[in-house]
Amino acid sequence: MFSFLKKKTGQAAGKDIGFEERERKTPIAGYVLLIAMTIVSLWLGFTALSDLENVPAKPQALSSCSVPFISYGWQDAWRFSGTYYEYSVKPVYSPEAAFPYQVRPPSAQPCVFSDIETKRGVAGAFAQTKGTRDQIANLQNQSNQKQNALSQLDSQINELRRQYELSIGEKGAKVSGGIYNIGELQTKLKPFEEQKTALVNEVANIQNQISAASDQLKPFNEKLRALYKEVLADWRVQWRWYELWAFLLQGLFVFPFFFIMLKTYFRLSAKNSPYTVIATFTLATASIFVVKIACVYFWSLLLAAILEALWDLINRIQILKSIITYAGMLLTIVLFGGAVYLLQRKIFNPARVALRYLRDKRCPSCQFSLELSKNFCPHCGEQILEKCPKCHSARFIRMAVCPHCGDRKT
Ligand SMILES: [Zn+2]
Ligand SMILES: [Zn+2]
Repeated sequence: MFSFLKKKTGQAAGKDIGFEERERKTPIAGYVLLIAMTIVSLWLGFTALSDLENVPAKPQALSSCSVPFISYGWQDAWRFSGTYYEYSVKPVYSPEAAFPYQVRPPSAQPCVFSDIETKRGVAGAFAQTKGTRDQIANLQNQSNQKQNALSQLDSQINELRRQYELSIGEKGAKVSGGIYNIGELQTKLKPFEEQKTALVNEVANIQNQISAASDQLKPFNEKLRALYKEVLADWRVQWRWYELWAFLLQGLFVFPFFFIMLKTYFRLSAKNSPYTVIATFTLATASIFVVKIACVYFWSLLLAAILEALWDLINRIQILKSIITYAGMLLTIVLFGGAVYLLQRKIFNPARVALRYLRDKRCPSCQFSLELSKNFCPHCGEQILEKCPKCHSARFIRMAVCPHCGDRKT
């Protein structure tokens, strides 16, 4: 009895080609539960990972003054996103007239410089031009006020013009006792027009002063830009260290989980266990975590630089763009076609097919009914039975075990 059980397990551990996918099919409810399990564990896992991200100290964010002087690269993709970077920060000063960011009123709080900026002497460079920048901010403020006044004036003028046109219409239609008096309206309109011209001139004048002051700032801005290049380099080094710590810390949780799941998967799959499907889903979850933390870590290390360089190259050379699209198409075909090929090859594995026919009492080679055959198939001549070397009875040549004595082929 014991040896029978032992043989049974031994058989299960062997190559299983006799079993079809459908025989071990997981019920749909099982898949729904597994998918639910995956979603919940992914959600919890990602929450845990992002909590771990906050364990090492993140590098200080650069001051809002840095915004116009720094151009971030691909590698900084998530370094100034989310909690790290405050999107509401706007620079206090407009260093150039064409500067796209809004200008804060002069009363706004000045920039709070990070340690790196202080170390690189950015604060001093800003202090040198404080007078000019204050002047620009002041002028900008005045200009804004005048623009507002101008738009109010414009709406008043438009209203008067409308009335004026109506009164002209009334005159043309010879309406007696019209509401509007043309002469009165004309005298009313005149000072408004004059006021408008004056305001437009004032605004232009202020704009000229702003651009003159901005011109004065240009050399200083160049200097700041150079300083901020160093600041950016330092900041990136700090981030690399931070990312390394975060990666190691997250890896401490993710990698053991991944390897345990990988081992479990291979163990169950070797045993052909019906629980393999659970391990498959768990392994997929673990792999997603591994890919996630690896992508974050390697992104800034090299992926971003490689992709950025490639992107530049692709954009520069049109033919390359076409080639890459074409290669992408071929790759898609290879990947998807390859997956289907592997699937088909497994299902239509000759050994599996032969066994399937045998169980249906058909010749493993030609599907002819085995009821009419003895040692050989009378239709195609395929050998069906052979003599067992141990008990000398007839046994199926394609089956591992003799049905008479239980002898197993090695
Ligand atoms: Zn046959
Ligand atoms: Zn035998």
